[in-house]
Amino acid sequence: MRAIQVSEVGGPEVLRLVDADQPVPGPGQAVVEVAASGVNYLDVYHRQGRYTLPMPFTPGTEGAGTVVEIGPGVADVAVGDRVGWVEIPGTYAEQAVVDASRLVPLPDGVDFEAAAAVLLQGMTAHYLVKDAYPVQPGDTVLVHAAAGGMGLLLTQLITHLGGRVIGTTSTPEKAELARRAGAAEVILYSAVDDLAAEVKRLNGGQGLPVVFDGVGRDTFDASLASLRTRGHLVLFGAASGAVPPFDPIRLAQGGSLTLIRPSLGHFVADRSELLSRAADVLEWVRTKALEVTVTARYPLAEVAQAHRDLEARRTTGKLLVIP
Ligand code: NDP
Repeated sequence: MRAIQVSEVGGPEVLRLVDADQPVPGPGQAVVEVAASGVNYLDVYHRQGRYTLPMPFTPGTEGAGTVVEIGPGVADVAVGDRVGWVEIPGTYAEQAVVDASRLVPLPDGVDFEAAAAVLLQGMTAHYLVKDAYPVQPGDTVLVHAAAGGMGLLLTQLITHLGGRVIGTTSTPEKAELARRAGAAEVILYSAVDDLAAEVKRLNGGQGLPVVFDGVGRDTFDASLASLRTRGHLVLFGAASGAVPPFDPIRLAQGGSLTLIRPSLGHFVADRSELLSRAADVLEWVRTKALEVTVTARYPLAEVAQAHRDLEARRTTGKLLVIP
């Protein structure tokens, strides 16, 4: 079967299309014919070696497809089931071996592309707004990169919960997408000298209760400065690079702020939490309460281009790889 393999960390050119061995399921595992794979910033971190994986590896951490074989002792799924999964590298391939206890069933009315487009980022948006910081009606919330994959989902969910979103984007076109997803205000980073001052101006001169920041290095200081006393910074990613070490006294000086750096894996660790979070997200997609915007589809041979586009900030919404 054809798969993307990475045998050294580096730029998009290290994503090589190879003929790999047909996967064989071990005890507790299933082989899934991959119909669609999501592209996530996490895949870029894996390729760059920011998060290390044993070499060689097949990237891609979000997939949907059909179970074609099961190993001994598998009770959670059967051959022919339509399933999705996240955070297990290997989805940039025609087939993937997955621990069956990590597979989630796909309901009728949710196709493979929709599932591969929403499971990872949708469950992330779910735990961010419900658990990392439970958004309350009336909260004004700053969402960075509001037209990105995560940003469009967060903006919709916060708006549904009765929050008011101030988004940031790099271009007017992206700003328009964020507005369509529900953002009340969108700031172009390049249009302001002092981002936090502009955020406060748009909030009647007050700091915010919470900031969702997936950009990291370039926005971290402004995110802290945008908070009110006892506000919460939810730093969930580093698209612009890792935040340098900082002195926790800044949290006291900012007004007894809290900082959380959460990761999806800790919010779907047990199967019942995985299934209930996935069920919520898939139901929102099925009923169209949550709109997932797939903006590009790449064949396996063009995965490197998908990474180039994502890293160059050329993309909006969700990218898919169709093996
Ligand atoms: P996006 O589609 O949001 O793409 C990244 C966006 O970040 C860009 O489009 C760009 O938007 C913005 N950005 C700002 N500065 C830079 C830069 N220097 N280089 C590249 N992009 C930049 O990606 P995803 O939706 O896949 O991921 C968003 C974030 O969410 C990532 O940091 C990812 O790691 C994180 N994440 C975290 C999870 C968790 O559990 N902690 C799970 C899933 C995702 P603009 O041009 O408008 O600034």
